[in-house]
Amino acid sequence: MKEATAKCLRNDFCSGSMAHMRYLIYAQKAREENFPSIARLFSALAVSRYIRASEQYRLVHELIGVHTACSEAHFTFFRTMDNLERARDDEKHEANEVLPAYIAVAESQGEGAASKSLKCSAAVCRHLVALLDDVIQKTKHADEEPKIEQLHVCQACGYIAAEITMGGCPLCGERAKFISVT
Ligand SMILES: [Zn+2]
Repeated sequence: MKEATAKCLRNDFCSGSMAHMRYLIYAQKAREENFPSIARLFSALAVSRYIRASEQYRLVHELIGVHTACSEAHFTFFRTMDNLERARDDEKHEANEVLPAYIAVAESQGEGAASKSLKCSAAVCRHLVALLDDVIQKTKHADEEPKIEQLHVCQACGYIAAEITMGGCPLCGERAKFISVT
């Protein structure tokens, strides 16, 4: 794999790893503030980002050695309602600003597997933006959090589904490979 593309994947791995950890902490904070459904959503987001970051890691593991990477991530920690908005804005930034630049590099270098993986990350980010936005809007117009009983994260791509359907993952089409977050 060419170095410029590998660098993009390493950076994406870094930002995904930080997001994974940040969402675990946001989930804990939401539980402490008595928002169990939002805690469930943050836990599912953490699994989703873990799956995306793991894929980036596997793609560059052949380049043995020590490498540095830039996470492009923000260090933020607020109360739960602000964490929801922050998470949505971070995912939007990733989908609209960061990943399109990485995809352009991978495509210009003819790195098909990297480009496919980064495009999948962008699609998952857009999906996370929609999920977060939905919860933010519902929370704004109600006195309590919307009920989220269970979420299922596709192990192949990181898509988060409210229920598992016979058709498999709506994003990548994989069947019966979901991690349930209860
Ligand atoms: Zn999937």
